[in-house]
Amino acid sequence: MKRPLLLSLILILITAACSFASPSPAAPPPAPTIASVPPTSIPAEASPAAAPSSNDATLLYISGTTHIETKPQTWPNVDAFLAFLQKVADLGMKWSVGADVGWLEGEPRAAELIQASEALGVQWDIHAHSGEDRAKAAYLITQMGGHPNSVVSGMLVDELDSVRQPLTYQGFTWTPKVLWGGTNCVGHRPGCDDLSAGIWIPLSSEQYATHDPNGTLVRVGGGTHQLDDGRALAQAVANGQYQYPIISFTVMVTPATLTIFESGDGIAEISAFVNEMNQYSFVRWANIEETAQAWTAAGSVPSRIDQDQ
Ligand SMILES: [Zn+2]
Repeated sequence: MKRPLLLSLILILITAACSFASPSPAAPPPAPTIASVPPTSIPAEASPAAAPSSNDATLLYISGTTHIETKPQTWPNVDAFLAFLQKVADLGMKWSVGADVGWLEGEPRAAELIQASEALGVQWDIHAHSGEDRAKAAYLITQMGGHPNSVVSGMLVDELDSVRQPLTYQGFTWTPKVLWGGTNCVGHRPGCDDLSAGIWIPLSSEQYATHDPNGTLVRVGGGTHQLDDGRALAQAVANGQYQYPIISFTVMVTPATLTIFESGDGIAEISAFVNEMNQYSFVRWANIEETAQAWTAAGSVPSRIDQDQ
């Protein structure tokens, strides 16, 4: 299948699983291609650059994440998900989970999954489709023995001002510090999702891609989540293409199938990807929040990289 067709399929799947506020139109316009670097430039079987690059100026921080939605049809099997999280932890990956309030309130084993995953080093981000539910999600995770971090995992770009201050639910306060996965328009239509990699501080909803040196909410870009695009990003770093101290990329699997949208890649392909990435001296495995913290510590140099052109 050609990539644009695949992407259209994926957008439909994403829309079904993770629709922000309104349905997408029946017939979406042609989708853009995802990668700025043709994936064919890196054969699947090839090992990375023969020797680790001498250009270690740019560090590539790679995170992993999963969103759990409110609709029960999309929920993970708890045992299968824990087994998956154990495997990625064994690989050295740092994973996070963002679960909407429907799952937090409705899954009988939510507390068990939260606690068992945290014991594996998994962090809990805040993923809620309704702005008022963000503090509630953090509250519920805390009630179940978990420790929600400061990551707003998924939001509409025009919600930016609403997460600039501490949020409260029944006297509980949750303070956002990190943004991941912004979308410019509802329904995950082509052109809506911000698929950029890299890290910056968005100036405003209107100028979201512009870095604000005086701002505080750090936007961690996850890129396209496709392993081949992660490979291309690593190869670009190895080639000395970037001058930034730190750039970012996120592997994301859907909870029901534990595979990546579009490619269908699962734990076997992710394992191979990790082994390839570990041959690069500049790759770091970190949660989304840890990536933001490392970026700040390294001087907050904006590093937005478009992967959807
Ligand atoms: Zn969602």
